[in-house]
Amino acid sequence: MLTKTKIYLSSPHMGGTEQKFVNEAFETNWIAPLGPNVDGFENDIKSFLGNNREVAVLSSGTASIHLALELLDVKRGDEVLCQSFTFSASANPIIYQGASPVFIDSEKDSWNMCPELLEIAIQDRIQKYKKPKAIIAVHLYGMPYKAKEINAIAKKYDIPVIEDSAEALGSTYYNEACGTLSDIGILSFNGNKIITTSGGGALIIKSLKLKDKAVFLSTQARDNAPHYQHSTIGFNYRMSNVLAGIGRGQMEVLEDRVQARRDNFKFYKKHLEKFESIEFQNEAEGMFSNRWITCIKTDSFSKREAIRQTLLKDDIESRPLWKPMHLQPVFKDNLHFTNGVSEDLFNKGLCLPSGSNLSPDDLARIMENILKTPKL
Ligand SMILES: *Cc1c(COP(=O)(O)O)cnc(C)c1O
Repeated sequence: MLTKTKIYLSSPHMGGTEQKFVNEAFETNWIAPLGPNVDGFENDIKSFLGNNREVAVLSSGTASIHLALELLDVKRGDEVLCQSFTFSASANPIIYQGASPVFIDSEKDSWNMCPELLEIAIQDRIQKYKKPKAIIAVHLYGMPYKAKEINAIAKKYDIPVIEDSAEALGSTYYNEACGTLSDIGILSFNGNKIITTSGGGALIIKSLKLKDKAVFLSTQARDNAPHYQHSTIGFNYRMSNVLAGIGRGQMEVLEDRVQARRDNFKFYKKHLEKFESIEFQNEAEGMFSNRWITCIKTDSFSKREAIRQTLLKDDIESRPLWKPMHLQPVFKDNLHFTNGVSEDLFNKGLCLPSGSNLSPDDLARIMENILKTPKL
């Protein structure tokens, strides 16, 4: 009997030249958090994003958000407004800084930060405490958030925006690259993301001066002296030259990866849009999503679970949508401004297998199982 292989939600997909860059690092002994691959990877990302930003590659997306908060001088006693519907890594660095997250719910179109709630929260915090120090908005599952509206509010109150673009490399908003829509952007190259270095991230900033500061802080904040001297607390957050080699290879296939993920979305939509019980995350005007993960929203918790269980029985991984931060036990004492949108998505939504390496047979097998679900 043929044994079927497990289908994952989103697994690494090498392009072919990654090993060449890694071998170069070995051959030249650049086995350090600096070297030609680090510079090369940064240049590749910079030109992909449109050459209007500086890029510093770091050890993870989480480290990148942490450094972004540090660059914005977020400290103990400060509040940071953060999209509630996200992965915990968007919010955790706020706690590392001794500051407090205030969670903002989503709007129904993009499933990302609701501009109306954002403004309500800003006014509330100014009135009752003080002006929030920063806003963290997220392009969830690759779908751009409503950046025009969010940026207008941020500008009105003069609050900087950190753009969590960990899931959105390759997405655009009115033809501008996600990651470059705000004051500071971040990327992730974790194993499940659209391209990977096995682990890694990047900070996207506006000036060389800020980049130099980010690199200084990420390499232990050493002052200019022959001995080790420090006048600031530093971090060990720089990306290794070995891993940056994987990144250089992956950048060569990024466009193909976006196309493959968008094709997955098209496949799911074609077969499932006839069901009234199933909704998709839609691209509104000006939005182009890399479709990192194809997500559906069903009309009930039990239907979502029925689909998930049917897939699981055939060794196919799927997962409920992110559990909002305002419902996480660890953040139960933090303030939140909610409207029920993200909670509803969490209860009824499902992430479908979306890797760029899914074969037509894999997709057919997934669909056969979804369609087996009773009373879809
Ligand atoms: C993956 C991810 C991060 C964190 O990136 P790491 O590289 O895993 O640290 C942050 N935010 C979002 C939305 C993510 O999906």
